[in-house]
Amino acid sequence: MSFSICILGSGAALPTGQRAPTAQYVECNNRHILIDCGEGTQLQLRKFGIKLQRISHILISHLHGDHFFGLPGLISSMHLLGRNRGLTIYGPTELQSLLLSFIEVGGHKLCFDIKFVVTESKSLETIFEDRLIEIQSFPLKHRIHTWGYRIAEKAKPFHLNAAAIAEFGLSLEDLPKLKSGINLEKNGKILQFEKFTFPPSPSLNYVYCSDTKPWTGYEKAIEHADLMYHEATFTDQHSDRAKQTYHSTAKQAATMAQKMKVKNLMIGHFSSRYDGSDQHLIEAKSIFERTICAEDGLWIDLEKMTHF
Ligand SMILES: [Zn+2]
Repeated sequence: MSFSICILGSGAALPTGQRAPTAQYVECNNRHILIDCGEGTQLQLRKFGIKLQRISHILISHLHGDHFFGLPGLISSMHLLGRNRGLTIYGPTELQSLLLSFIEVGGHKLCFDIKFVVTESKSLETIFEDRLIEIQSFPLKHRIHTWGYRIAEKAKPFHLNAAAIAEFGLSLEDLPKLKSGINLEKNGKILQFEKFTFPPSPSLNYVYCSDTKPWTGYEKAIEHADLMYHEATFTDQHSDRAKQTYHSTAKQAATMAQKMKVKNLMIGHFSSRYDGSDQHLIEAKSIFERTICAEDGLWIDLEKMTHF
């Protein structure tokens, strides 16, 4: 089991030498997910040692260029490298026709299938789940339709109490039931699974809030997040600009984190007008101490972050 996040791009609309436009890679229990895909994302994937063919799900928050201009190039490279497994892309309704136009004008017939899933949830809704993970989407408040995403581990198996199992002489075939929290029946007697197990490790979640102004509509989605990424394009000095453009300041991101009892906050999408993110961090920490800044190439091990 593992849950890690790599920041591929932490900048806003204009790429700089230090910050690529928005993109993040999430590896959750061997599921490989890309969130947003700004220009140059495939180069960032290479730079930070991530195999692009591993990516099976791409989540696009909205159709401002700094969040999806990297997609045609990435898909083209996947094709040139002979990809032979499908890819699922989640995003706004116009995304499918945009991408298909790019592919068609190049005269390519892709060597793999793309499944498009339109994101249109009006509240926190599940868009994908399997045995180990669940992905949900929820609406944000930006100038155009924009969605955030929540990636969560499913409930984990109970840990076995080897000593208790040995004492009762339980057999191997009893163990899967115990791990799933199911009582056993032996010689007409019910054996409670709690006697033979310890509680499971906590299931973690990561919440991604792309471009948005602060809004009550996504509070439920971020509540108690183990780690929330929240855009903080501006510092307090430019709060008027944030309001006009439906973005957030670092203080507003931190206020949302504090209000909804988020455990850790990561801010990013810093405007290129600033030399660095020091001021953003100072302002956010004045409200919510457990804040870090997204930086290109930053790897986060979510399990370590939530246990220090
Ligand atoms: Zn935007």
